[in-house]
Amino acid sequence: MDAYRLPAKLLKALAHPVRLRILNALREDEECVCHLTAVVHHRQAYVSQQLRFLRQAGILQDRKDGLRVYYRVKEPRVFDALEIVNALVGVKNEIAPHQVVAACPCPKCETGRE
Ligand SMILES: [Zn+2]
Repeated sequence: MDAYRLPAKLLKALAHPVRLRILNALREDEECVCHLTAVVHHRQAYVSQQLRFLRQAGILQDRKDGLRVYYRVKEPRVFDALEIVNALVGVKNEIAPHQVVAACPCPKCETGRE
């Protein structure tokens, strides 16, 4: 049954608007949890929960740097799948480079504000 169970597991991990928003923020580069929290406008505990879900599904991997945890997409082909889904529903998902968020304390946003 793995021929059906594994694809269903992956699709289930993708099937959530906040998780799709997180993935879109990770198209270009890794981002820290604080940045992803600022981008999706949800509490950090909630965002961390969604990030864990994506990591456990094998879509993301994390890296610790001091107190910060960075996430990146493990398999960029997941974006090809999302392109197809977006085309099916008629949604245009523009590729967003690093978005500088005013309230975000991450190093990239600090640099972007200078
Ligand atoms: Zn940031």
